[in-house]
Amino acid sequence: MARYIFITGGVVSSLGKGIASAALGALLQARGYRVRLRKLDPYLNVDPGTMSPLQHGEVFVTDDGAETDLDLGHYERFTGRPANQMDNVTTGRIYKEIIAKERRGDYLGATVQVIPHVTDAIKAFVLDGNEEYDFVLCEIGGTVGDIEAMPFLEAIRQLGNDLPRGGAIYVHLTLMPYIATAGELKTKPTQHSVKELRSIGIQPDILLVRADRPIPADERRKMSLFCNVRETAVIQALDVATIYDVPIAYHHEGLDTEVLAAFGIDPAPKPQLQRWHQVSNGIRNPEGEVTIAIVGKYTGLKDAYKSLIEALQHGGIANQVKVKLDWIESEIFEKEDPAPYLERVHGILVPGGFGERGSEGKILSARFARERKLPYFGICFGMQMAVIEAARTLAGIDGASSTEFGPSQEPVVGLMTEWMRGNELEQRAAEGDLGGTMRLGSYKASLKPGSKIAEIYGDTEITERHRHRYEVNRAYRERLEAAGLSFAGMSPDGLLPETVEIDDHPWFIGVQYHPELKSRPFEPHPLFASFIAAAVDQSRLV
Ligand code: GLN
Repeated sequence: MARYIFITGGVVSSLGKGIASAALGALLQARGYRVRLRKLDPYLNVDPGTMSPLQHGEVFVTDDGAETDLDLGHYERFTGRPANQMDNVTTGRIYKEIIAKERRGDYLGATVQVIPHVTDAIKAFVLDGNEEYDFVLCEIGGTVGDIEAMPFLEAIRQLGNDLPRGGAIYVHLTLMPYIATAGELKTKPTQHSVKELRSIGIQPDILLVRADRPIPADERRKMSLFCNVRETAVIQALDVATIYDVPIAYHHEGLDTEVLAAFGIDPAPKPQLQRWHQVSNGIRNPEGEVTIAIVGKYTGLKDAYKSLIEALQHGGIANQVKVKLDWIESEIFEKEDPAPYLERVHGILVPGGFGERGSEGKILSARFARERKLPYFGICFGMQMAVIEAARTLAGIDGASSTEFGPSQEPVVGLMTEWMRGNELEQRAAEGDLGGTMRLGSYKASLKPGSKIAEIYGDTEITERHRHRYEVNRAYRERLEAAGLSFAGMSPDGLLPETVEIDDHPWFIGVQYHPELKSRPFEPHPLFASFIAAAVDQSRLV
């Protein structure tokens, strides 16, 4: 039977609860256990799909087409286990289910209440589908004390009693702030946060304490005493150079040992941490450096591009180089010449995006890369912009545009309301809901033998994750191919362009899907490895 680890956060948000959970998952996996990581998000949206990336960061898409929290990306990257629809739930989704049941009359006349109905629905979700796992790690979003989180905390409190003894433990992540004037790290916020947790009936078994400098033994003892947590289970979690150092750092502090001890697992199997050492050494000892410009719209919030940043770093590991990122707001190029910004970089990446604002700047970036023969990687929106650029400049279709920006005489990119998923027809209404209705999740693509992209994958049949509403319009295929932009990858039915490339260019590739979602530190995605290799070549030229 699966054992449960509930991970809560206290004091402030952004302490890295997702990475801490992922790292603990990786450490248990390194000891031979089968682990599953799940996220319970207290907000009211049914999923984060309709939220602005500036509000919520990246929307991580799973193979089965769920739009989920970006922490699921960390879970996948750290454990290699592909997440699915059932690994992330929100208050909105729980309530949606409950209200539908109430309307059907399924509650048989009962008054529907937070306790027991909402908490039961949360518990059923947490317990579902865990047969094949040794450990299920459930991270609760937000910070203890948030009003929205109460039903989730109540549900995990109840689970502590519902499960057999020793079936669940609670890990609480907090912060010790350093007060410069006193020259001390302070324990009080942690004490208060644990008091808050205990007032709702949850006694943490382990405290994971973030601090920017080593925690003195006395302060650890103090937290142990006041928070009623064993001294060895007060684990210091210091800042590290890269997130891939976290598993080893937490292991050295004894996190996984304490977790297993809290479950009474003795003797514990030894961990195999070689691959973590390899990744961490790879990042620590680069043999060179390349600079990649990311021309986007949400460059103010790096969380909006989480998987992309990681995938570029994985590409760096594959080539033993450090990848420096140069963030550029695409709107700048609508007023200023791109040359001074882009001349000094070794590759240009235009990532996914939505809406017209900034799109002309992305089109100009694609043009700069194409004309100057700089490596160009266009992802989703970045492919669509590259196709519009090629249509306008190479094929002479002056009004080429996307219907995402309004009606167009030359809809080189257009809204798609019908497409095939395997053997099933998917249909959408042009004016339908925005939530959960894009082309989402894994789709197959066929790559033209001999194309650059087929060579990079070493394969002609691939599966990648999608998240978009618009598609490159294959009605323009012949004209664009005649002008030098080949449609190297198509959906298996030949209707939807999946990848484009420019033959007469060292590295110019656009993909309609999001390869960054499947890249792992241990298995860098071939497109990112190849793009960074092209940037390395470029860096030798300049
Ligand atoms: N806005 C574009 C579309 O919906 C691209 C989306 C994306 O880049 N993820 O098709």
